[in-house]
Amino acid sequence: MYERCIALAWCAGCRVYSSALVHVPRTRPPADPLAALPPEERERLLRSERRTVEFLARGAHRDRG
Ligand SMILES: [Zn+2]
Repeated sequence: MYERCIALAWCAGCRVYSSALVHVPRTRPPADPLAALPPEERERLLRSERRTVEFLARGAHRDRG
């Protein structure tokens, strides 16, 4: 079984933001990149799509070193 989800992708280098409809297996939900945040911080980010994108972009830079 699959769930239809909206996938959002942001490239900080090109400053391109795109979205697509994707199929996610119910038995394998995608990892939550905000899972490690305290609940209030997570809620604050999710209220603003812009803040969420900025947070994820910073994480991507950290991963690259
Ligand atoms: Zn790019």
